[in-house]
This record gives sequence, C-alpha cells and structure tokens, in this order.
Amino acid sequence: MLKLSNVHVYYGHVHALRGISITVEDGKIVSLLGSNGAGKSTTLKFISRLIHPKNGSYEMDGKSMLKKSPGNVVKSGIIHCPENRRVFPLFTVEENLRMGAYSRKDKNIMEDLEKVLSYFPRLKERIKQKAGTLSGGEQQMLAIGRSLMGKPRILLLDEPSLGLAPILVKEIFAIIKRINQDGTSILLVEQNANMALSISDYAYVLENGNIALEGNSKDLRNNDEVRRLYLGG
Ligand code: ATP
Repeated sequence: MLKLSNVHVYYGHVHALRGISITVEDGKIVSLLGSNGAGKSTTLKFISRLIHPKNGSYEMDGKSMLKKSPGNVVKSGIIHCPENRRVFPLFTVEENLRMGAYSRKDKNIMEDLEKVLSYFPRLKERIKQKAGTLSGGEQQMLAIGRSLMGKPRILLLDEPSLGLAPILVKEIFAIIKRINQDGTSILLVEQNANMALSISDYAYVLENGNIALEGNSKDLRNNDEVRRLYLGG
C-alpha cells in the first residue's frame, strides 16, 4: 500500500536519510526502530510531505505521492500523530477530537467520535476537560484519538510511549493493537523496541539514516544483534 524506495533527505549538509526503502502492507503494523537521531521522525515527516527528498520514490497504492501537498496526503488516508502529542491545550477533549475530522466531508463523524471514545474510556470521562489539564498519558491518548478522527488508512505514530509510566505504555500499546485489528494499518516509530516488536508484524531498524536490518518482528526479537543493541541483552 505505502512504499518508499531509495529515499534521500538532507537538512542543509546533514544527510538524514541515506537511501531508505520501506513498505507498509495493508492491515499490518510496521515498526521503525533505532536510536536517537537515526532518522525515524524524519521518515514520518517525509511521508507526510513536511520535508522534501533529494531523490527517491514514494507511492501509495501504486501512485506517486511526491507532488502531493501535506493536506492531500491526509486526504489519501495517511495521518501523522507527531511526537510530543501537540494537543490544543485550551480546547476541550471533544473540541480536540472534532478538530481531527476537519478535512472530512462525510456524515459519520459522530459515529467515529463514539468509536474513538470506546478505545479511550478515560477521554470519555474527561470529554469537557481542557486538554492542557490532562496527564501526559491522557494527552497521548487524545493525540492518537484526534488522528483517528481523520479516518486514517495508515496511521503514522511517532513515539507513543515517550515519557509514559510502564503501565500506561502497556495500555497504549494494547489500544494500538486494537486499532489495527479494526482495520487501520500502522507505521510505528518507537525507541521501546521490546513493546514495538511485540505488537508489530514487520520491523525496520534505522541507523544513521540507513536501514541496518529488517525482518518479521518475531525473527528480530530472536536476533542476537537486535537483542544486544535494542532489547537490553
Ligand atoms: P529521536 O528518536 O531522537 O527523535 P530520530 O531517529 O527520530 O531521533 P530524526 O529526528 O529523524 O531522528 O533526526 C535525524 C537526523 O537529522 C539527526 O541527525 C538530526 O540532528 C537531524 N535533523 C532533524 N531535524 C533537523 C532539522 N530541522 N535541521 C537540521 N537537522 C535536523
């Protein structure tokens, strides 16, 4: 469904992506792992068309996306849930969620709001609360919920576990799995390789802008190098 081939991205002189190729098949969860500065967020920003490549191709359903605007990428069903949540702090939970549906013209928005609240009962309890007063974990749920309101075919999730207590990380990952089982494909950027590999089908490991390793998540979990470098032994 989504295919990047040989993508190179520069920030000035910094060669951030050095010819990466990534595929996300319909219905799958694909993890993008790697240490700080490896190029994970850059890859998601590239897919959302927030930064432009020097070379390479990018296709969705066999059609090039390289001339699309960020807004048209969203309309194609690719929705980016950025790092650090970025909720609108002075708006309520409900207003934030509704804002996620701003580009939709269909009439099923109320239905989807109910669906999103069924994934996140904590948000349902806080529907009229200002987003800025939510806890970090609740803000993360709100950011994911807002992305879902755009009705993604592919959800790009940037570090959903960042800064959260382990119990909340487990909760969020279980919800991500449910979202996928309900039909949304997911490209998941994570530093928590253990958790990411436990829910994903396939994974890529980025190192200095290159794909150092890729494979089925199960196989990578048993790979000695991955265990040593990313899974703590
Ligand atoms: P982290 O897990 O720390 O967020 P990452 O794998 O997501 O890391 P990126 O944020 O994609 O890494 O960064 C890749 C490289 O590009 C890094 O060397 C970074 O310093 C550089 N970079 C990222 N954004 C910019 C920018 N706006 N200007 C210049 N260099 C940048």
